Amino acid sequence: MPGNMTLDELKAAVADNTIDTVVAAIVDMQGRLMGKRFHAQNFIDHAWQETHCCNYLLATDLEMATPDGYQSTSWTSGYGDYVMQPDLSTLRRTPWAEGTVLVLCDVLDHHTHEEVPHSPRAMLKKQVARLQALGYTAASATELEFFLYCESYDEARRKDYRDLTPFSPYNEDYHIFQTAKEEPLMRAIRNGLAAAGIPVENTKGEAEAGQAELNIRYADAVDMADNHAIAKNAVKEIAHGQGRSVTFLAKCHEDTVGSSSHVHQSLWTGDGKPAFYDAEDPHGMSDTMKHYLAGQLNHAADITFFLAPYINSYKRFIAGTFAPTKIIWSVDNRTAGYRVVGNGTSAVRFECRIGGVDLNPYLALSAIIAAGIAGLNSKSELPPEYSGDAYAAADATNIPNNLRDAAKALSTSAMLREAFGDDVVNHYVRAAQWELEEFNRIVTDYEIKRGFERA
Ligand code: ADP
Repeated sequence: MPGNMTLDELKAAVADNTIDTVVAAIVDMQGRLMGKRFHAQNFIDHAWQETHCCNYLLATDLEMATPDGYQSTSWTSGYGDYVMQPDLSTLRRTPWAEGTVLVLCDVLDHHTHEEVPHSPRAMLKKQVARLQALGYTAASATELEFFLYCESYDEARRKDYRDLTPFSPYNEDYHIFQTAKEEPLMRAIRNGLAAAGIPVENTKGEAEAGQAELNIRYADAVDMADNHAIAKNAVKEIAHGQGRSVTFLAKCHEDTVGSSSHVHQSLWTGDGKPAFYDAEDPHGMSDTMKHYLAGQLNHAADITFFLAPYINSYKRFIAGTFAPTKIIWSVDNRTAGYRVVGNGTSAVRFECRIGGVDLNPYLALSAIIAAGIAGLNSKSELPPEYSGDAYAAADATNIPNNLRDAAKALSTSAMLREAFGDDVVNHYVRAAQWELEEFNRIVTDYEIKRGFERA
C-alpha cells in the first residue's frame, strides 16, 4: 500500500478526534497538488467516494490563467466539472499538518466517469499498463534538488525575489558541517515524509550555496510520481511552517547552477528479475536495456518538453554546470544526458539527467516510458558509448535548448502521438505555446536594464 492508512483507520482516528481534516488533491499539469480540505466527518460520510473540481485545473498555467485553445475545456464550454475520485490506496498521515491526512484523487470525466486522458496520473497509468503488457515494470526514482532561503515566502515576495539570503553562504555539496545548520528544516522534511509513508533515502547539500537534494527510494512509476508530488508540496509546507522559503525553479539566477530532477530507471520482469542485467555483457547491460536506452536517445528531443516545461527550464542547460547539453550515453559520466550507473550489477540502470526540478514527474515518467517502449518495440540499436567530456562532443546531437524547439519536437513526434494519443499531445502543445505567448508579451527586467538608457 503506497499510503499508510485505511479508510477504517481514518474513521477510527476521526472518532477519537486525532484527525479532523482530509486534503483531497488531484495533480495538475504543473505537477502541483490541487484540491480541497474536507472536514474529516464529511469525507468519511460522503466525499471518500467522489468529489468535484472545475475542469480548468487541467488547462491552466502556474498563475491560474484561462488560456484559449484547449479542446478539453474553455469559456465556450462553460468550464464545467471533473470528478475527483479519491485513490484510497494513497491515503496517508501528513504529520507536518496537524490533525490532517492526504489522499490523491484520479480525475474522471463528469459524465462518462472515464479517466480524463490528459490528466498526468492517467497518462502515467496508461504507459505503465503498456509496459506491463510487454512483461515489465519500471523501477523509477526522481531526485529533487531545490534552493533554501532564510526569508519566508511573504518576505521573498516583498523583496521581489531579489537579494534573498541562501541558507548557506557557500557551495555545500556533500558538506556535513554546513548542512548541520539546515537540520531543523531538513530533519523535519525527512522525518515528516517518512511518517507519511514516503521512503526517504537521504538529503544532502548540493553544488551551490543554499542548494539541497532529497532522494526517495525507487518505486513503481506511479508510486514514485505520487511520492515526488507529495514530497515537493511537503517541502514547501514545512519550510513555510518554519518561516523559510524553498524554490523548485530550474534556474534561479544566471550565475548559479540550476536544480535538476534526475530520473533513474530500470525494468523488472513480472517475476521480480532485473531485466536490464546481463552478467555476460562488459557493462552488465542486457539487450532489453540497450533497446530501451536507445529509445531514450532516439526520442530525447520529442520528450524534452516533459523534462523542461517552461522558458526558464532551458536556462539550466549550460556546459560545465553538471546539467547536460548533449544526447549521448556514457557509463558513470555526469556530463552525459544519459548516465549508466550500477554497471556490472543487478542494479544497472540509466539516469536521465535532462530534467529540471520544475518537471511534472507523472509527465516525465510517462514520456520516458513511452520512449523506452518505442525502443523495445523496434529493437533500436544503441550507439556506441561516448567517453570523456560530453560538453565537448562536437558531433553529438544537442538537447533542444529552447521551449519553442522542444514544443515543435513534441508536436511532430509520431512516437508520442502513438503512445499518448493526438488529443493528449495537442493539449500539451497548447500548454507549451501558451508559455511562449505569455513570455513574448511580458517586458522583462533584463530588457529595461539593458536598454532604458543605452538603446
Ligand atoms: P546518485 O549518486 O545519482 O545520487 P544513488 O545511488 O544515490 O545515485 O541513487 C539515486 C536514486 O536511484 C535513488 O533514488 C535510488 O532509490 C534509485 N535507484 C537505486 N537503484 C535503482 C534501480 N535498480 N532502479 C531504479 N532506481 C534505482
